[in-house]
Amino acid sequence: MEQFQELLSTNPLLLLAYLIGSVTFILGLKMLSHPESARRGNLIAAGGMIISIFATIFLYQYKGGEGQPVNLHNYVWIFTALIIGTIVGTIAAKKVQMTAMPEMVSLFNGMGGACAMLISLIEYRNPEVPGTGKLLIIVLGMIIGTVSFAGSVIAWGKLNGRVKDKTIPGGQAINFLIFAGIIILSIMVVGGFSASPYLFYGILVLAAMYGVLFVMPIGGADMPVVISLLNSFTGVAAAFGGFLYNNPVMLTGGILVGSAGTILTILMCKAMNRSLKNVLIGSFGGGAKAAASGEAKDQGAYKEISLNDTATLMAYAQKVLIIPGYGLAVAQAQHICHELEKVLEEKGVEVNYGIHPVAGRMPGHMNVLLAEADVPYEKLLEMEDANDQMGTTNVVLILGANDVVNPAAKEDPASPIYGMPIIEVDKADHVIVNKRSMKPGYAGIENDLFFKPKTSMLFGDAKKVLQALVAELKTV
Ligand code: NDP
Repeated sequence: MEQFQELLSTNPLLLLAYLIGSVTFILGLKMLSHPESARRGNLIAAGGMIISIFATIFLYQYKGGEGQPVNLHNYVWIFTALIIGTIVGTIAAKKVQMTAMPEMVSLFNGMGGACAMLISLIEYRNPEVPGTGKLLIIVLGMIIGTVSFAGSVIAWGKLNGRVKDKTIPGGQAINFLIFAGIIILSIMVVGGFSASPYLFYGILVLAAMYGVLFVMPIGGADMPVVISLLNSFTGVAAAFGGFLYNNPVMLTGGILVGSAGTILTILMCKAMNRSLKNVLIGSFGGGAKAAASGEAKDQGAYKEISLNDTATLMAYAQKVLIIPGYGLAVAQAQHICHELEKVLEEKGVEVNYGIHPVAGRMPGHMNVLLAEADVPYEKLLEMEDANDQMGTTNVVLILGANDVVNPAAKEDPASPIYGMPIIEVDKADHVIVNKRSMKPGYAGIENDLFFKPKTSMLFGDAKKVLQALVAELKTV
């Protein structure tokens, strides 16, 4: 509060810029909760960030040698870094494939953690000796930032296949020892038991090791949950930076990222019906495949459907519901899927999409994918609404989705996904499943849906199948 008043009396313009920044962050985040306003929300928050950055560069003043206020002056360094960062960020964001989005988020998140780490390192070396409170903030910011940086880099490597899933023997005990080491060294540094800088650098090394070993054993496909968790760590580390510099906009941004990341992590775990512990220790996904350990059940025969029959069934339906999944993203079939929807609507068929919260490999994956193809947002039904409409739906077309429609989640208490909410497609008149084979999905378990009497399999790559289906529909 004192610092706030000081800033108000000495540098009101800077405080105003920070307030504008903070308000735009909150507004932007609120607008991100709806796809229609999300793009604008993002731009508004980015605008607030630009104002805050430039206000810091040109208006921020620190105490000079004789205690007089001095403006920042190393503009060449600042603008060189800004220009390089802007170019790299723009190119990366423009070039990234939809399926590689979690990778990029992970890397960018790691950069946030690295910034928090560097801030702590620099402030620790500040000739003005920090008091205990300040030292505590510096150490905490460094630990959390470093764990987030190291963990995010490993998560990025796992997502692009450069780092393989690895269970280290005695890994949990090693992690516990490292964690204990971090706590002991931190108490020594913050409590003033030793002034040796090596203890501080020791914390840095241990935190980096902890970040690596914490993420290393987690299954590659569980990375989005881990990234969301690391994202909340980065937010908290940035908030410590806000405390350190009495910077309200950094504090607001950090707290928002920290709390949003935590909420998202909890929501993702809930939607998969798994505890965070289960994700972190990894009982399914990535390495450990549930089905591989169990005996394959004899589920009887499945039936196939031809393109021609699919086209006829859909053309004469009143209501069609498309359920997209990870395979649609893999096939990059979102545009042709939108084309199919338009062709059907021209024939008077009502077409909607049923979106499961964890369909795909990252939160909102299907929403972003379909938005990219200009599918109108009102056509995307949330899982509950899709289930409500199922009784009046004639044809459900499942495109590269598997776990999110697996009835074992409702019917088989022994299944690893038991209790996970699913889209209850078997309540519709006909179910058509498009995938390339009978292989299981992410959870590694068989899907009884494929063997149910109402279900027909339409094998093939989603893009190729949809292209052929659209061509066929035009002839019906
Ligand atoms: P799944 O991984 O369960 O199934 C995807 C299916 O797509 C596969 O069975 C595969 O079958 C098929 N497929 C792959 N490529 C193609 C292609 N080119 N054309 C057609 N089909 C294809 O995906 P869901 O979306 O149903 O479920 C998501 C899973 O991911 C859930 O288990 C969820 O818990 C998990 N998860 C989700 C996260 C999120 O944030 N959304 C985060 C972490 C995990 P085949 O190989 O036979 O073609």
